[in-house]
Amino acid sequence: MKIAVLPGDGIGPEIVAQAVKVLEALRAEGAKIEMETAPIGGAGYDAAGDPLPEATLKLARAADAVLLGAVGGPQYDTLDRPLRPERGLLRIRKELNLFANLRPALLYPELAGASSLKPEVVSGLDLMIVRELTGDVYFGQPRGIEMRNGERVGFNTMLYSESEVRRVAHVAFGIAMKRGKKLCSVEKANVLECSELWKDVMIEVSKDYPEVELSHMYVDNAAMQLIRAPKQFDTMVTGNIFGDILSDAASMLSGSIGMLPSASLDEHDKGMYEPIHGSAPDIAGRNLANPLATILSVAMMYRYSFADLATAERIENAVKQVIGEGLRTGDIWTEGTRKASCSEMGDAVVRAL
Ligand code: NAD
Repeated sequence: MKIAVLPGDGIGPEIVAQAVKVLEALRAEGAKIEMETAPIGGAGYDAAGDPLPEATLKLARAADAVLLGAVGGPQYDTLDRPLRPERGLLRIRKELNLFANLRPALLYPELAGASSLKPEVVSGLDLMIVRELTGDVYFGQPRGIEMRNGERVGFNTMLYSESEVRRVAHVAFGIAMKRGKKLCSVEKANVLECSELWKDVMIEVSKDYPEVELSHMYVDNAAMQLIRAPKQFDTMVTGNIFGDILSDAASMLSGSIGMLPSASLDEHDKGMYEPIHGSAPDIAGRNLANPLATILSVAMMYRYSFADLATAERIENAVKQVIGEGLRTGDIWTEGTRKASCSEMGDAVVRAL
């Protein structure tokens, strides 16, 4: 398996180094893994004047999977928009056609105290949100700001084709099949035609998955239910903008942003794997960051791109063990637990593996 390793900016290189340790440990046991590193984001701009250098894109295209740290930093905020680090990220997702974004929200019982909700509401939470990533109002045309009747108006187009909905529906049903066989499709079909089509296609696709129980929920209710009783959900599927908002809300259920991995997949299960957090410039370069979201992203890589569930579970269990042993980076530290640096946490996971 060829893995393109793109550390990016800020804490990116530190957390990715820990995930690479895990991959190297697996390779030492005989796993056939090739890794090659390339710059992206601000590092891409510094190296080649482009947040997604041509060579990085080429490497990512040729790889079976991409492991990404995070991009961005205050020193790049004044660059022209097309040169900003975040553009590199949006472009690589689009170029690799990564249309299905998988964001699990999982709460380790030991970390229930770190959630902003009551422990009994979130303890045992295990939710997967599948967000469509390359369509919707973020990409629909026409869009712009123009003068109409003597004032400026801003407009965007919420747009989904049947085929776009169908392909993400298949991914979501496939994931629900491997989980609790319950899929909740979230839209706003009472007001939006685009959502009406979304719902129709979900119902059509559900005929291919008779074992999965499909339900529908309006996005406003889904936002409320996620906070009120999140454990009612097993797998959710939703469009780009609703998924953007709901998955961030869901991430907070589980305490720290430093714990949550994500995957973005194309039609052939090639994927880009990355923590959901950003480059954390406030703690970058100090060996303080939590590397577990990135290590858990490697577990997702094994599950979804390499179809190696045993190794995926091994990595996840190693993380559970380290948490169980009471080792904590600063973001998840509580009284009575042991503080660890980023690299100590990585070493501990490798030992537990
Ligand atoms: P952030 O996620 O980088 O940081 C938010 C807070 O969480 C900070 O206090 C940070 O220290 C903490 N944090 C984040 N990850 C952590 C970890 N692994 N361990 C411990 N603490 C952690 O979000 P932000 O501050 O809004 O953005 C900083 C930069 O990251 C910006 O340039 C932004 O554009 C970029 N960003 C990139 C991505 C990405 O690469 N996918 C996502 C979000 C933001």
